[in-house]
Amino acid sequence: MNYQLILDEIAHEVSCLSNKGKVADYIPALANVDPEQFGMSLTLFDGTQYSVGDSNTLFSIQSISKVFTFTLALKFYSTNLYKRIGREPSGDPFNSLVQLEYEHGIPRNPFINAGAINVTDALISYFGNSTKASEEIFQFIRDISDETSVNCSKIVATSEMDHGFRNMALANLMKSFNNLDNDVYDIIQTYFRHCAIEMNTKMLSRAMLYLANHGVDPINGMVHITEQQAKRINAVMLTCGHYDASGDFAFHVGLPGKSGVGGGIAVVVPQKMGICVWSPGLNAQGNSLLGTIALELFATKTGMSIF
Ligand code: GLN
Repeated sequence: MNYQLILDEIAHEVSCLSNKGKVADYIPALANVDPEQFGMSLTLFDGTQYSVGDSNTLFSIQSISKVFTFTLALKFYSTNLYKRIGREPSGDPFNSLVQLEYEHGIPRNPFINAGAINVTDALISYFGNSTKASEEIFQFIRDISDETSVNCSKIVATSEMDHGFRNMALANLMKSFNNLDNDVYDIIQTYFRHCAIEMNTKMLSRAMLYLANHGVDPINGMVHITEQQAKRINAVMLTCGHYDASGDFAFHVGLPGKSGVGGGIAVVVPQKMGICVWSPGLNAQGNSLLGTIALELFATKTGMSIF
């Protein structure tokens, strides 16, 4: 298959669309990102990469980081993790408070904000303190992307901290139900630090490979998680990876993936490749507008879908 041609066609087709979506201005540091940008990359199991557009530009990975923190929490806690977090789609916006109240502080899944904050808390407990937890999260992302330079933007993390009232509310609500162990401020700061990690589509498409290959990095052979854990993470990505648009994404694209409000979407094609697309303009559910369309075009042109 001529992947370069397919990516070039997709980039051309989305560039003709007039509605590019709206950047996530609730995080002031992200409000000024140019919505015209678009990049897409895919990485095959032998390391070959194909890219188009702004594939070298670093962007805020935001909720895509939740896949990596969930991976670590599942690795260390195994199924005990599900005592504190569910694995059902929420059907609600990513930062919603209502469901958390009537479900007694147990977040529906690890990919909505409440769930990811809870996962961060579990990792802080596991590693003993928030500094060590942050270091381990960063190191894991450096390992799977094979990119030692991966780091977070202090500007974005501080901006989120200054405006993170909803996330603070989610954390305080869970704390009131005794479903968080550590200091709320400490947890939220650690959560924002991993959301503010910056990567490009090349790095992220490479980072998804362990999930496409049963938990093992197909390039260097590193075993990150068990085959069963990789299967579970892909299932949760498919059912919960795009908040209240998860059903729509499965319907149109049919591949496990995770979006972030920075405009990135990272996707797994089982046994074949990792993909990442980035375009900062979002749709109403907080997923990249052009990114979602690009992935639908990719699935249609290549016939790659798990269905
Ligand atoms: N850091 C963002 C937040 O907590 C992540 C949300 C997202 O990417 N959907 O609001």
